[in-house]
Amino acid sequence: MRRLAILGSTGSIGTTTLGLVDRFRDRFSVASLAGGRNIERLAEQVRSFEPAVVATGDEEGAEKLRSLVPDFAGEIVAGGEGLVRVATADADLLISALVGALGLRPTLAAIEAGTDVALANKEVLVVAGELMKSTAQRSGVKIFPLDSEHNAIFQAMHGQNRSEVKRIILTASGGPFLHTPRQELESVTLEQALKHPTWKMGDKITIDSSTLMNKGLEVIEAFWFFDVPVDEIDVVIHPQSIVHSMVEYIDGSVIAQLGIPDMAVPISYILGYPERLPLSHLPSLDLVKAGKLEFHAPDTERFPCLRLAYDALRARGTASAVLNGANEIAVASFLDGRIAYLDIPRILEGVLEEHPRVDGPDLGQLIEADRWSRERARALAADRR
Ligand code: MG
Repeated sequence: MRRLAILGSTGSIGTTTLGLVDRFRDRFSVASLAGGRNIERLAEQVRSFEPAVVATGDEEGAEKLRSLVPDFAGEIVAGGEGLVRVATADADLLISALVGALGLRPTLAAIEAGTDVALANKEVLVVAGELMKSTAQRSGVKIFPLDSEHNAIFQAMHGQNRSEVKRIILTASGGPFLHTPRQELESVTLEQALKHPTWKMGDKITIDSSTLMNKGLEVIEAFWFFDVPVDEIDVVIHPQSIVHSMVEYIDGSVIAQLGIPDMAVPISYILGYPERLPLSHLPSLDLVKAGKLEFHAPDTERFPCLRLAYDALRARGTASAVLNGANEIAVASFLDGRIAYLDIPRILEGVLEEHPRVDGPDLGQLIEADRWSRERARALAADRR
């Protein structure tokens, strides 16, 4: 029996994970859950999986949850400390699936406590890759990738010799604006940006996919996950989202992982690792029906966010943390209708230019860089109104 702690249980990764737990009740149990604003869904999960600890975003949510599950015998906690309680509950694997820098502290706490981590919350490695990796090494903890691309790479590296890897090729769907001319990008609406062609995801990551920032963050994430030089991480646009990523080896062989775009597949691979779980409820990949698989080079003129991410990764220190913090504010501002679509990269460029980089940052310095980047991004967003 594998016991899971889940940060972000009411989100898309969290609900998919719990769907798998429900399907394989003989193999998995839930030690703890942390949900967001959707308290009704969290209450259903508490009734169904009976965790020992549950966390809500704030005290108000905790009160509401208590009223919805009056017979619940476990502990209900709130806020940042609640997240740490959930992450450090007695579990074998932490599903780290919060959105944004919020997941940093609780994920680090789990690593320090010796719990293996399945990471969907990419900002954890984007902001604090160096710190997370060195801490994981010290505590003998493994960090597994849930992100579909990194999960594909992890699968393509299984049983291979790491020193024989020549390059990693991350695929990107290209988002809804793959063929939209630069001129028209100026005036795209929120509704257009939220229409992702292949994956169904949360709003923030859907916008990040449309700007290619999601892929930029994934390049940074790949760097920390797989220990390959920046120049050996490539991105290729693949609109069908069937090839989830590839690894090229020194003999020219390329190993790819293919599948239908359903997050249950990568999540189940980590839940069952090193065994595969039978997902007989999912349809088989029909390559004949898919017909054509296309690949294009990414256009960093129209999508500067990808270039900014490579630049931040090369700069190291606090640069990636600043890029991420500024991006969270810029995307939130766009989602609230306060800035235009192309203001997102403009704000990021502005914040990165102003940023005094700190090398080899500790958690305090990373959190300060994150705070600073948000403040600057807010100021630049206000100027754009
Ligand atoms: Mg991804």
